[in-house]
Amino acid sequence: AIKGNGRNGFAFFDPSMAAEADERHRLEVDFRAGLARGEFELYYQPVVEAGTRRRVGMEALVRWNHPDQGLIAPDRFIAMAEDTGLVGTLGEWILQTACAEAATWPDDVKIAVNISPVQFRKTNLLDVIMCALVDSGLPPERLEIEITERVLLEWEAEHVSILHQLKNLGVAVALDDFGTGYSSLSYLTAFPFDKLKIDRCFTRDLLARDGCGAIVCAIVNLGRTLDMVTVAEGVETEAQQRILEAAGVGQMQGYLFGRPTPADGLAIGGPATAAADGTV
Ligand code: C2E
Ligand code: MG
Ligand code: MG
Ligand code: MG
Repeated sequence: AIKGNGRNGFAFFDPSMAAEADERHRLEVDFRAGLARGEFELYYQPVVEAGTRRRVGMEALVRWNHPDQGLIAPDRFIAMAEDTGLVGTLGEWILQTACAEAATWPDDVKIAVNISPVQFRKTNLLDVIMCALVDSGLPPERLEIEITERVLLEWEAEHVSILHQLKNLGVAVALDDFGTGYSSLSYLTAFPFDKLKIDRCFTRDLLARDGCGAIVCAIVNLGRTLDMVTVAEGVETEAQQRILEAAGVGQMQGYLFGRPTPADGLAIGGPATAAADGTV
């Protein structure tokens, strides 16, 4: 397939590209309809404290219940939602829903919400977050937002100011997928993050690649120095858990502790917990 212009300025027609564009367009049409029809749903994945393995928080992860295609993961629609600006509408719904859900949980369980870089460019992000807090009655201290380095790539004074205002409000700010961008370390001087989420690839390769354990230790030490909690993502095995705890990570997240689950399947607060604990 020849993409873009050739040397002579010719663009070759490529049927596979046309099909791709077609599918993308259909997805966009479906996405608008899906937003109106309420086809999106939040799943929640536990975050546990290292050592005690006590649940300290939940991360909200969006899913799309597509009428024909079934459950669609965010990697397949977030980019399109960003390109079309629709991520603003979706993001507002996500914040409202996640905060309302978390308000029903015990006080010591926080809620983490992923924020797209495009949401940052919308000047009303702060208003959207404050509305979600006020409407739900969730104390700001129980909300944490997760941003990736992509936000910081387009770092502007305004973005830093929004993050500072959030921190002043009591909302925590985490840097997600840490260690995958190419100049991660310089970002750490731009803003005092509360949390560093060590990317899943380091956990995955802990036992397979020699350097990974050393990198995790280095990030943990960096976190200590800068007063940031470190979280290991993608913990799937007890062997990984042992190494990560020995390295001194503060928190862990992964299938070992729980997969992302719809709100009604969560054993958190209410009678479900009591039954699961065997106390009823
Ligand atoms: P993320 O924020 O880094 O989320 C972690 C991803 O790793 C989730 O994928 C989660 O299901 C997956 N995961 C968790 N534990 C394990 C594990 O032990 N093993 C493996 N193999 N995977 C694990 P998911 O839900 O498909 O989300 C992918 C990405 O999409 C997220 O990465 C985040 O960047 C984005 N995303 C998800 N929900 C939202 C949202 O509500 N808003 C925005 N803006 N982005 C979202
Ligand atoms: Mg995240
Ligand atoms: Mg991540
Ligand atoms: Mg990710």
